[in-house]
Amino acid sequence: MAGKQKITLIGSGLTGPLLAIELLRRGFDVEIFERRPDMRKVNMRAGRSINLALSTRGIHALTQAGVWEEMQRIIIKMKGRMMHSVSGELTFQPYGKDETEVINSISRAELNIALMNAAEERGVQIHFNQRCTGFDLKSGAVYLHDEVTGQNQSVGSDVVIGTDGSASAIRTEMLKLNRFNFSQQYLNYGYKELTIAPGSDGMHQIETNALHIWPRGNLMLIALPNIDGAFGCILFLPFEGPDSFEVLKDEASVLNFFQTRFPDAVSLMPHLLENYFGNPTGSMVTIKCSPWHVNGKALLLGDSAHAIVPFFGQGLNCAFEDCTILLGLLDQHADWATVFEKFDSVRKNDTDAIADLAVENFVEMRDRVADPRFLFRKKIELALEAKYPGIFVPKYAMVTFHRVPYSVAAQRGRVQDRMLGELCDSIDRIEDLDWDKAESLVRRELTPLGDS
Ligand SMILES: Cc1cc2nc3c(=O)[nH]c(=O)nc-3n(C[C@H](O)[C@H](O)[C@H](O)COP(=O)(O)OP(=O)(O)OC[C@H]3O[C@@H](n4cnc5c(N)ncnc54)[C@H](O)[C@@H]3O)c2cc1C
Repeated sequence: MAGKQKITLIGSGLTGPLLAIELLRRGFDVEIFERRPDMRKVNMRAGRSINLALSTRGIHALTQAGVWEEMQRIIIKMKGRMMHSVSGELTFQPYGKDETEVINSISRAELNIALMNAAEERGVQIHFNQRCTGFDLKSGAVYLHDEVTGQNQSVGSDVVIGTDGSASAIRTEMLKLNRFNFSQQYLNYGYKELTIAPGSDGMHQIETNALHIWPRGNLMLIALPNIDGAFGCILFLPFEGPDSFEVLKDEASVLNFFQTRFPDAVSLMPHLLENYFGNPTGSMVTIKCSPWHVNGKALLLGDSAHAIVPFFGQGLNCAFEDCTILLGLLDQHADWATVFEKFDSVRKNDTDAIADLAVENFVEMRDRVADPRFLFRKKIELALEAKYPGIFVPKYAMVTFHRVPYSVAAQRGRVQDRMLGELCDSIDRIEDLDWDKAESLVRRELTPLGDS
């Protein structure tokens, strides 16, 4: 790609600044236009207290961009799930085979700020309050509306990349094209951001190095530790029905609901009512579309191309892995049209796979993690992994601690689920596992995983 090309990114959320750093490093001129004000200067409530689980795929992309080191001060390692029963009983289930396999809690806002700082320090220009209202698919001109002054402008560039999230304006433009495929599927569940306050000593009031879950059948509360001693919590609840956002409308019903469902959490949430009524109820959607690109001129990446529900903790990791894959292709091919074409063809199966796994994992998190049979299967999984390292790797680990394509993780996960069914269904103790049968199943059904 001869000459200094100009690339316009729409959206300075989590992926835009990371991609910008890498494009700038490759000699491109990069500008980002972001709809919101600069969160470093303006206090923004929504999304402020959400913590995200960052794992291997995301860390790999941050490391490649040279910014992972500086994230160390804003992450907290989570070694496993801590399940809270209604009576307050705690059950800990490790995420990985040992303490090298942990996930990292990071505040969305802190991560966004760190990435924007890093991008600007390297020379990326970020323009705030600039809402993209349209895009000319032929000329590549982007139309922008200034949210403060009300002025409109158009900006030209060689390539436009939509890192503008699940409600992407660039994708809306692509929807007008002939043969553009698009589907969106909302869950009938919503979510609400809440917080567990730090203790009077400023420290965490419950185990720091865990992702806490209060699984309650058809609903759940989760909490991820933050570096300020608080926990960012998310309540997942149906929109309608007996225990739902529809019925929890006044202070008395909310308090009563929390006291009966999450008694050990409610005492740690002094701002419960303020949070509950002050924060919006979010919705969750799976978006699939194709193709993600037009004429070597425009590309969708991250949530704009494939928004997924949050239950595998992979949306961000997947979006960051998009960057790794796109940049790998950019280093191999000389024109944007080929890069975009190949990106779409190598990546689409994998983003479809993680979208489906994320929906499946909702049932696991809100319901099955409290089931003793499920916990027993998890123990057997870890025993099989210890005996057949690199061959039998639990699905959660393939997705979270490895970089094998998501579609491979999904396919091997299905095979292993069948094997676990055969090995576990008639036993209650790990000592009774039929290791001969396990050996023949593993040898017959699995090959070494490999990794990328
Ligand atoms: C409740 C919840 C919990 C989650 N937990 C996890 C987790 O634990 N782990 C994980 O990996 N992922 C998680 N995710 C998913 C993760 O947040 C997303 O996948 C990730 O933010 C996608 O990054 P992105 O850059 O594509 O989009 P975003 O981060 O959404 O950024 C898009 C940006 O574009 C801007 N924008 C939008 N429209 C326009 C426009 N017209 N013009 C200009 N700018 C625009 C937005 O203001 C925003 O700044 C979670 C999501 C939710 C909702």
